[in-house]
Amino acid sequence: MSSSCLFCRIVRGEIPSKKVYEDDEVLVFHDIDPAAPVHLLMIPKEHVENLLLAESRHQALLGKMLLLAPRLAREQGATDGFRIVINNGPDGGQEVYHLHVHVLGGPRPWKRL
Ligand code: 5GP
Ligand code: ZN
Repeated sequence: MSSSCLFCRIVRGEIPSKKVYEDDEVLVFHDIDPAAPVHLLMIPKEHVENLLLAESRHQALLGKMLLLAPRLAREQGATDGFRIVINNGPDGGQEVYHLHVHVLGGPRPWKRL
């Protein structure tokens, strides 16, 4: 856990979020500035900066998040497909340095991405 990391603070409940799923390893909540009608952020509760710093011990966790995405996307109203985006590092356009999977869906047009 990182004391100043925004998403670690969301995990600890210090900053409110609109949660859609939680278990012991993963938290999923609505993006505060949605780029599509459905825009979820899936994060590991463990502070991992991004895929550049992910390790083999994270393999099951990463697989779990990808397999959870279609279910949550559908439950939240993305009934006709969805997009997964993971930004990594400065050239990847990453703004929050706690690994997160964007899950985007819903009827187009979308605002960005
Ligand atoms: P990145 O650019 O790092 O891939 O994405 C960061 C995402 O986090 C952005 O889509 C942004 O809207 C979202 N975000 C930033 N601050 C907050 C916040 O305090 N709460 C929530 N729910 N989302 C946030
Ligand atoms: Zn963090």
